[in-house]
Amino acid sequence: MAYKITDECISCGACEPECPNEAISEAEIIYVIDIDKCTECVGSHEAQQCVEICPVDCCIPDPEHEETREQLLEKWERLHPGETPKAT
Ligand code: SF4
Repeated sequence: MAYKITDECISCGACEPECPNEAISEAEIIYVIDIDKCTECVGSHEAQQCVEICPVDCCIPDPEHEETREQLLEKWERLHPGETPKAT
């Protein structure tokens, strides 16, 4: 399932460059995650990079966007054509 950023976000911007899929961007008030690009870091890393770096723990799984690992990997492959997944 895609991750989302809660209202606790302090807009520090630490997560944006860490996302391997460029899924994070600055919105009007807080940062947001594009659900079409978030793979829970499947394909790139063992752990969610935004979760690891966030100083206020505001990156959380979004239960409204359930996806299987297989779907996440397919999404990663669409985002990184020709590349080999580093973490599955
Ligand atoms: Fe990006 Fe990974 Fe966070 Fe999803 S979980 S927004 S892919 S850093």
